[in-house]
Amino acid sequence: MLEGCTPWPEEFASRYRQRGYWRGQTVPQAIFEVIARHGSKTAIVYGGRRISYFELGQRVGAMARGLMRHGIKPRERVVLQLPNSPEFLVAFLALQQAGAIPVLALPAHRQAEIGHFIRHAGAVAYIGADIDRGFDFRAMADEILRRETSLAHVFINGAPNPGQVALDALMAADDETPLPEIGAGDIALMLLSGGTTALPKLIPRTHDDYVYNFRQSGAVSGFDDATVYLAILPLAHNFALGSPGILATLAYGGTIVMSAETRADDVFPLIERERISVVCGAVPLAIAWLNSDVPARHDLSSVRLFINGGARLAPELRQRLEEMFSCTYQESFGTAEGLLNQTRLDDPAPIRFESSGRPISEADEIRIVDDEDRDVPDGTPGELICRGPYTIRGYYNAPEINAAAFTEDGFYRTGDMVKRNNGSLYVEGRKKDLINRGGEKISSEEVENLIYTNPKVKGVCVVAMPDAMFGEKACAFLIPRDGETMTFEELVAHLAKCNIAKFKLPERLEIVDTFPTSPAGKILRKDLRKIIADKIAAERAGGGQAGLS
Ligand code: AMP
Repeated sequence: MLEGCTPWPEEFASRYRQRGYWRGQTVPQAIFEVIARHGSKTAIVYGGRRISYFELGQRVGAMARGLMRHGIKPRERVVLQLPNSPEFLVAFLALQQAGAIPVLALPAHRQAEIGHFIRHAGAVAYIGADIDRGFDFRAMADEILRRETSLAHVFINGAPNPGQVALDALMAADDETPLPEIGAGDIALMLLSGGTTALPKLIPRTHDDYVYNFRQSGAVSGFDDATVYLAILPLAHNFALGSPGILATLAYGGTIVMSAETRADDVFPLIERERISVVCGAVPLAIAWLNSDVPARHDLSSVRLFINGGARLAPELRQRLEEMFSCTYQESFGTAEGLLNQTRLDDPAPIRFESSGRPISEADEIRIVDDEDRDVPDGTPGELICRGPYTIRGYYNAPEINAAAFTEDGFYRTGDMVKRNNGSLYVEGRKKDLINRGGEKISSEEVENLIYTNPKVKGVCVVAMPDAMFGEKACAFLIPRDGETMTFEELVAHLAKCNIAKFKLPERLEIVDTFPTSPAGKILRKDLRKIIADKIAAERAGGGQAGLS
């Protein structure tokens, strides 16, 4: 296994193999097995394009060889940052066929984050768009290339800058070079952690574990070759990629309908036209769609399943989604580190609407523990910790973080507070300092560190505030230095200069003199969350605008 990754102890690994959880198959092998069977079937629909399984296989093979011609070698890391498009999937599988390891960045990430991923992963290449939503990724890549010594290649989907290579050009030659042998125990991809630390951690997933992840998640969601999956959430997210995501769709011989648009006006005609059967959404999308009159104008009878992931959706909204689509609702409470919990399709309504599901695998070991790691009884909230055949044993190259994030016997500390009732889990809150903005995670520490670089700031604390659409948004409590002040606009302008993803920006600023602290001097973030929640509730009650201030 790649240096810097923590393997499963042999006793666990051999058990997972023996019991068939690990099939000894790489991610591309699992997909090519289906390509061999379903050649002429449509694998991907994207705008006016329809790509067959056969064509997908050809493009993947050609790109893998093109990457190899450019010197990309097995186990080298490559940051992949593409909007939802067939090229995302082709590049993802091609990198793996060439033995390289895609590091999955979101289209929203900017120079600060991409630079960090490249440095931390020691990446040799970057694959990005030319221009997307008005942002020039080529210029960003040029800038990063000047700073990051490991980076040797920039591949661009579209028109590259001088010195960069067009992704299409990789596929030009008629090349029969044999592809390298890749072990199923090798690292297949690196996902980004939901972020509780100053900068996102990298989550190395092996071929064996990830193939099991998407096959098992797909089985629990009833995927088969009739599945027509709507891919609108960013594909770099574990939920949209492999939980069950586009990879399970292919593994079961279904069809992926991709779109980078999420508005009801774009999505619902697509559902009708392509007879989509599985819709994966997140809290803000579900709310926007439920508040829209567009769905009522379309034939949605093809939809059999709506899966929500990334953040908890309220029970009444789950029920309304079932009514809107005449489908089954499935809640997915997952982690990119591994463990996935999904409600079952035949669960009774109270479980589907209220619970956060239960582990997808009989081999998932979960415990719910108090602050001293003692198991709490059913019905009592505690921290969820877990291990199993698809839950990592450590982040990439992060020994100190690993010592805190995993127990000595290899359980991953999710930081989620849950209770268990009759086998189902219910998320009640969390221990970790992050803001869950409709599924996108914001690390308080990361944003605070950037705000501290402003000389006007004496103290800052970024916490979650309630939001009707996103569930939570970031609110900055700030103590200015003596004689200084700061406006919301100044704060945003300062952070904009830091070149970070926009979704991380605080959406409200509260200027204060002090922070509430414990007798030991620790800032009581819980109290700050309550202060801002009460204030917003009072503003709402008073008819005031609970928005930016
Ligand atoms: P990520 O690694 O970005 O997939 O984030 C995983 C985290 O998102 C979990 O540890 C939870 O805190 C949160 N999460 C994901 N899905 C749900 C859900 N359905 N309900 C509540 N929290 C969720």
